[in-house]
Amino acid sequence: MFKEFIKKITRFESVGVYSHIRPDGDCIGSQVAMCLWLEKNGIRAQAFNDHPVPHNLEWLATYFPIEVPDAELTAQCDAFVVLDGNAPSRFGSYEVFQNDYHRPSFMIDHHPDPVDAFTESISEVKASSTCELVYRLISEHDPDQIDSETAKALYTGIVTDTGSMQFDSVTPETMEAAADLLRRGDFKPNEVTEQVFSNKTPKQLRLLSMALDSIQLYESNQIAIMYVTRDMLEKTSTTSDDCEGFVNYPLSISGVKAAILLKDTDGKGIKMSLRSRSNLDVNKWAKVLDGGGHKKAAGAWHPGPLELAVKDVVKIGVKQLKEIENESVLS
Ligand code: 5GP
Ligand code: MN
Repeated sequence: MFKEFIKKITRFESVGVYSHIRPDGDCIGSQVAMCLWLEKNGIRAQAFNDHPVPHNLEWLATYFPIEVPDAELTAQCDAFVVLDGNAPSRFGSYEVFQNDYHRPSFMIDHHPDPVDAFTESISEVKASSTCELVYRLISEHDPDQIDSETAKALYTGIVTDTGSMQFDSVTPETMEAAADLLRRGDFKPNEVTEQVFSNKTPKQLRLLSMALDSIQLYESNQIAIMYVTRDMLEKTSTTSDDCEGFVNYPLSISGVKAAILLKDTDGKGIKMSLRSRSNLDVNKWAKVLDGGGHKKAAGAWHPGPLELAVKDVVKIGVKQLKEIENESVLS
């Protein structure tokens, strides 16, 4: 699967590399590594995202710049690579551009239910992260092309998408990839993780303390809800981007099967982050609200207001919990 991809993508002169809107560590890491690899092989690469690089990942964009795409920039590309998303709609303006120009498109992703809308797809749901897949691709082509910057970029995506190697998506192959990246990149894990996780501001911690106060438990503590209101953001002079990692706190309560963080964003509605550490499939759950993601981590939007979003999201979760209970009684 990688051989075919490598053969085809290296035929182009100029390739645009997108990651999904509201990018995370797996997006930026895989994008930077992919662009560095393309350029090492004589292909002009440009990295695109409609949204800004999150503050804790800006250091990765010094290895390779990430630009906001426009018609002029995208017109220069004779093919596109899209990373960490399973459908054109996950890549914002990419979809609009492709509707007009239909350039060859290459997808690499690990989300379930990929849409058949790309010239070539590497879709591996069992992979911990898109970065693990990009690691495998580069390794299959020429592992000696993994330099220190590529290694740190790929390592970032692996640790962020696995909750620092805690999720059940972690396999021996994930650990082997991480070990190989440490060796080839000649860096220590904390050089990456301190930049990614240990750069919180005091304001963010004040917001966290308010969010922790909002936690409510449902269905005998199986579902945990946490929310962030606009009032909390105003009082702490923060934005909804400052909530990175918050959802892991309600998820860590004993007995909780799934946790949802709801963020009241200015005028745009309620952004929900759903996380599971059980057989509750939050991808299915988010899909009821036109969102999506993985079985254990998904996202969706609700038009609001917040109280209604909480009510609706809990209702869907309770229904799915009951369905799972009924299935286990019947089997
Ligand atoms: P997060 O909660 O961190 O925003 O997202 C968790 C996972 O769900 C990520 O894999 C992300 O790609 C996916 N996701 C988040 N929001 C949405 C959405 O609105 N639609 C879809 N299809 N996936 C989403
Ligand atoms: Mn990912």
